[in-house]
Amino acid sequence: MTTAGTGRFGAILDRIEKETAALDERGRPADYIPLLAGADPRRFGMAVAEPDGTVYGVGDWRQPFSTQSITKVFALTLALSLDGERIWHGVGREPSGNPFNSLVQLEYENGIPRNPFINAGALVVTDRLQTLTGDAAGLIRELLRTESGNPAIDFEPAIAASEAARGDRNAALAHFMASYGNIANPVPDLLAAYFQQCSITASCADLALAAGFLARQGVRADGSALLTRSQAKQINAVMLTCGTYDAAGEFAYRVGLPGKSGVGGGIIAVVPGVCTLCVWSPGLDQRGNSVAGVAALDRFTTLTGLSIF
Ligand code: GLU
Repeated sequence: MTTAGTGRFGAILDRIEKETAALDERGRPADYIPLLAGADPRRFGMAVAEPDGTVYGVGDWRQPFSTQSITKVFALTLALSLDGERIWHGVGREPSGNPFNSLVQLEYENGIPRNPFINAGALVVTDRLQTLTGDAAGLIRELLRTESGNPAIDFEPAIAASEAARGDRNAALAHFMASYGNIANPVPDLLAAYFQQCSITASCADLALAAGFLARQGVRADGSALLTRSQAKQINAVMLTCGTYDAAGEFAYRVGLPGKSGVGGGIIAVVPGVCTLCVWSPGLDQRGNSVAGVAALDRFTTLTGLSIF
C-alpha cells in the first residue's frame, strides 16, 4: 500500500480531496437503518487500485464502513462464476427506474425483479447462492478477504441486527417473490443471510482491491480466473445500467464508468484495464447515492479523461 502523491493518480486524488472538502451540500446519512444514521457526512475517503495490486488513497481511505449494496456486485459475481447463466432465470438485467426497495414493479412482472442490484434482485441472487453453498454471506466475505488481501474484513452484527429490526420491506419483497416460486429458501433464513451480507464492513482500499477482477477481465489477484472475460464485461455492463439505483443514467452522464453504490455511502467504480476506484462519504442524495462520492468520481473522470466512452 502507498499513499496518494506516489501513485499514478496521486496528484489528482489530492486535488479531489481538497475540492471535496469545500463542498457545502453533503446530503444525509441513511436513516432507515438506525445504526447508519449517526455517520458524519463530512467523512470522505477515496482509493485507487491498479491491476497489479498497488493501492493508494486520500482522506479516510483506510476507514472501514458499511458496504451494504456494494456486496451485490460480489454476490452476482459468485452466482455467475458458480452457476453461469442460470441466475438470469430468476432475475432480469434491465434498469428498473424505481427506488432500490420498490415493490410495485414486482407484481406486474410476475415476481421476477428487474436486475440483481435492486433489493428484490439481490435477494434472488443471495437465495441462489444460499442454495448452492449453504453460506452465501460467508462466501461473499471470503471473496472480499481473498481479493483485498485483508483477512480482517468481517460482518458487523450490530448493523445486521439494526437492519433486521426495520426489515419489513425486504421481508415483503422476499415473501412476495416466494409466492411466485422465485425464492427457494425459507424467507427468514434468506433475510438473515442478506442482512449479514449487507453488514460487511470494509474500507475504500479493501473494496478497490477486491473489485480488481472487474478491471482485469475476470482475473483474480492471484492470476487465476474468477469470471470469463465475457462475464466480467456483463457485470460491468449491469453496473453501468443498474448500479446506482434509479440514478444510473445521471451517474453514467456524470461519471461514465460502471459503478455500484451502497446506502453506507460507498461507491465502487471500474475503469476496465486501468484501475478500480472506491469512494466513501456517508451523506446521500434523495436516490441513495453518496453526494461527495459521486462528485469525486465525476472529478476523477473529468480530470483524467478516463471513462468507458
Ligand atoms: N441493506 C440495505 C437494504 O436492503 C442495502 C441497500 C443499499 O445499500 O442499497 O435496504
